[in-house]
Amino acid sequence: MGTECGGPPAKKSEKLFARAQESLVGGVNSPVRAFRQVGGTPRFLVRGKGSQVWDADGRRYVDFCMSWGALLLGHADPAVVQAVRSAAGKGTSFGAATEAEVRLAEEVKKRFPSVDLLRFVNSGTEATMSAVRLARGYTDRQKILTFEGEYHGHADSLLAKAGSGVAAAGLPGSAGVPPGAVEDTLVATYNDLASVEAQFRAHDGQVAAVLVEPVAGNMGVVPPDPGFLEGLRKLTQDAGALLIFDEVITGFRVAAGGAQERYGVRPDLTCLGKILGHGLPVAAYGGRRDVMERLAPLGPVYQAGTLAGNPIAMAAGLAALRRIRPPLYARLEKRGAQLESALRDAAQAAGVPVTVNRVGSMLGLFFRSGFVRNYGDARSMDAAAYGRLFWALLRRGVYFPPAPFETVFLSAAHIRPDLDKAAAALHDGFREVAHG
Ligand code: PMP
Repeated sequence: MGTECGGPPAKKSEKLFARAQESLVGGVNSPVRAFRQVGGTPRFLVRGKGSQVWDADGRRYVDFCMSWGALLLGHADPAVVQAVRSAAGKGTSFGAATEAEVRLAEEVKKRFPSVDLLRFVNSGTEATMSAVRLARGYTDRQKILTFEGEYHGHADSLLAKAGSGVAAAGLPGSAGVPPGAVEDTLVATYNDLASVEAQFRAHDGQVAAVLVEPVAGNMGVVPPDPGFLEGLRKLTQDAGALLIFDEVITGFRVAAGGAQERYGVRPDLTCLGKILGHGLPVAAYGGRRDVMERLAPLGPVYQAGTLAGNPIAMAAGLAALRRIRPPLYARLEKRGAQLESALRDAAQAAGVPVTVNRVGSMLGLFFRSGFVRNYGDARSMDAAAYGRLFWALLRRGVYFPPAPFETVFLSAAHIRPDLDKAAAALHDGFREVAHG
C-alpha cells in the first residue's frame, strides 16, 4: 500500500473526500476512484487542459490516466468543447432521431469496415451486455466465453473472474450476482488457444460467442501473442460462434480502426466506448449486417435507451473523430516508446525488477520480471510496490492510474516536457520504491 507521507497536505481534497463519504458510497461513483488500491486520499480534480489536470488544492499534474483512456486528444480539446457548447444550445436531448447520430455512425463505419450497422448506447457496460444478448439471440445458444482478468463492464454475466477494479479488490466476481447469471459464462486463459479449444470441446455446439479485449487493458496491458486473435477467429468460425471484440479501450486508440485494424483480424461484432464520445457518455456496438438485423426494431432481440445517441455526446464524438488523423498515431507511438524507455530506465537504475508491456499509447507496468502474457502472470506482481510508486509520482506532479492492473494512457496532448517530467519523477519514484 502506498502512503501520502512526505507530501504537502491536500487539505481541500481531504475535506471534500470527508464530505463526499457522507453522501456518495465510498465518496465516489466508481470504485477505483476511491484510491483504495494505493491508499490515501483521492485528489478531487477541478480542471483539465491538454495533458494537465489541476486538483482542488491548486496542484497541477501531468495526467497519464486520461479519464481511463477516453481522452485521446487530451483534456478540454477546443474543437470538442466548442461542439459540445454548440450542441447543448440547440437542446440537450430529444429522444428522437437526429442527423448527428447518422453522421457519427458513418464516421465509425469508415474506420471499422467490419461494422455494417451499429447502435449507440451510453456506456461500455451497455455495449458489451447488449452485444452478448444479441449474440445469444442470433445463434440461439447460451454460452459466452471470456478471459480471466479481462473486464467488459459490470453486467451480471460478465463479472466472472474479471480484471480492473474487480481484480484490484481481490474479489472473484461480485456479491449480488446470482450463480445462474454466470453459469453460462465460460472463462479461458488469455493468449492460450488450447484453453479456448478445451472450452469449445466441453460445450460443443453451445457457445454463442467469444468476447475478448483484443489487447487486454484491465490486467495491466497484455498484447495478444502472434496468432492468438487469428486463432480465436478460426475457432469461432469452426464452431459457429460469433467473435466479439471489446474495443472499448482499443477502438480509435491502437489504430484509427482499433485492434482489428492493427492486427488484421475481423470480428463479427465490435464494442466501442471511451474515445468514441471523447469524455461524454457514449458507447456503441455494431458489426455484421445479418447479426445486427436481429436487433429491434428489425428483429426480436430487444435493447433500447432514453438517452442513446444523445446529441451533445454525438457532437463531441464527431468533433473528436474529425481531429483524429493518421499522423497522430505516429506521434502517439513515439511518445509511447519514450515513456516505455523512461519506465525501464528508471526501474533498472533503481534495481527494481519490472516488466513493461506496450501497444502504442497503452502501457502496462508490472512489478515483476519475465513475460506477462495472461492474468496469472499479471497477478503475481508486487501490487504494493505500485502503490508506493503511485504516491512518489503524485507528489512530483505525475498522475498515474490510482490502481495496479490498469493501463497507463498517453494522449496526443502529451508533449516532450511532459515526458521529461515523468522520466525525472520515475527516476526518483523507483528509488523510493527500492528503499521501501
Ligand atoms: N470494456 C472494457 C474493455 C473496458 O475497459 C470498460 C471500462 N473500463 C468497459 C468495457 C465498461 O465501460 P464503462 O465503464 O463505460 O461501462
